[in-house]
Amino acid sequence: MTDRKVRVRFAPSPTGPLHIGGVRTALYNYLFARHHGGQLVLRIEDTDSSRFVPGAEDYIVESFRWLNIAFDEGVGIGGDHGPYRQSERRDIYKTYVRQLLDAGRAYYAFDTPEELARKREETPNFQYDATTRSQMRNSLTLPAEEVKRLIDSSTQYVVRFKIEPNEDVHVNDIIRGDVKINSSILDDKVLYKSADQLPTYHLANIVDDHLMEITHVIRGEEWLPSAPLHVLLYRALGWGDTMPQFAHLPLLLKPDGKGKLSKRDGDRLGFPVFPLEWHDPKSGEVSSGYREQGYFPEAVVNFLALLGWNPGTEQELFTLDELVQQFDLGKCSKAGAKFDYVKGTWFNHEYILMKDNSEIAPEFDRILKANGIDAPMERVEKVVSLMKNRVNFVHELWPLCRFFFVAPETYDEKTVKKRWKEDSAQTMQALRDLLAGLDDFSLENQEAAVMKWIEDNQLHTGNVMNAFRLTLVGEGIGPHMFDISAFLGKEETLRRMNRAIEKLK
Ligand code: GLU
Repeated sequence: MTDRKVRVRFAPSPTGPLHIGGVRTALYNYLFARHHGGQLVLRIEDTDSSRFVPGAEDYIVESFRWLNIAFDEGVGIGGDHGPYRQSERRDIYKTYVRQLLDAGRAYYAFDTPEELARKREETPNFQYDATTRSQMRNSLTLPAEEVKRLIDSSTQYVVRFKIEPNEDVHVNDIIRGDVKINSSILDDKVLYKSADQLPTYHLANIVDDHLMEITHVIRGEEWLPSAPLHVLLYRALGWGDTMPQFAHLPLLLKPDGKGKLSKRDGDRLGFPVFPLEWHDPKSGEVSSGYREQGYFPEAVVNFLALLGWNPGTEQELFTLDELVQQFDLGKCSKAGAKFDYVKGTWFNHEYILMKDNSEIAPEFDRILKANGIDAPMERVEKVVSLMKNRVNFVHELWPLCRFFFVAPETYDEKTVKKRWKEDSAQTMQALRDLLAGLDDFSLENQEAAVMKWIEDNQLHTGNVMNAFRLTLVGEGIGPHMFDISAFLGKEETLRRMNRAIEKLK
């Protein structure tokens, strides 16, 4: 077991857009695989045709491409263990259904939905198991010829797993330790349905994990109740020795209050629960995505990595390589992780700060162009460098930076009231004349000249700067004044000053 090469899988069902919790599961699988020099498989579990949603598989593939989480094998990639879509593996599963039937570990059941419903009505908490299966219509109770006749006449049936009662089943979970349950509480799960000629999730999942040589099953806590059944299935199929080790990840919890994170929490509090925007093919409803909201994929990965795991240090910002190096399933918590979406925006802010301005500028340039502004890239980059520490997202730059590219047409009333004094027009005229006389319009030279002038004339620095800002910006926002005037250049600075003096006189 321990000398097997680490192989893990992410096995989503294409029933809709991938939830952010699923993204975290895939990420932990990825980090674990990379940390151990192992492999990560992408398998699509589409045996439940009634829940199939068109577009969901493409959405999953596209999400991981955006997030830079690369798979080694699977749908869209290929590999030696394919096909990787369960709906294309029907014949493989049939072999193992047969094997379980022949070994007496599974049986045919012919109970119709109506019969089952009646039984449930009659018997409170009815469960199909060792105590009740003798009262039902199955190959354990019917004569062999009758069973043969039913199958030959194409009567619909299911194959159920025959669970032996009163056995302690141990699930050895890396995060939760030894989880023990008694087999008597399990029901005889349906493994196969003749109606669609397909196995159910449980059988397909186990068969594929075995055939794909999966060594560790890392998945959400919601699958923990299925794990004892999976352990029994492995053994029944004779694969007990190569059974993967389990790790059931903690739940993602609501940002506020108790309970599991849901799409409704996102709608209520205004954050996405999907990696990419999702257009529901049936309802037409559009759900927001992290990508479209302006998150960097690295920030999303960093944020998710710490929801349920931390390396036990104060470090919060990790490159993907650092995450790979430090990731340890043993350090995952059992307790659910609060989905602190505000922290997610903080991560994005930190990535804006860390990223090179030249990397952010093209994105800001797109927004500028959309607003009719065509500026040289170095000027776009300059504005990014001056203003990026004030935003969490690149799109937030536009309202804060418009004035760099567009002269104010109006002057904010409140700011005028507060900052434009009796003598401001006069002071600004003098300042304009001073600036007009400067040959070197660099930030440093302007600053030195203006500061000296303020001192020589015993002016109030704050008052001068506030009025100056109003003339160039039109309101009381923006970075250091001389950063603005140096960016605008002499001609534009003087033009804006003249206009303001004229208007505000
Ligand atoms: N198809 C299951 C899902 O949608 C896979 C669960 C597992 O990883 O075993 O999550």
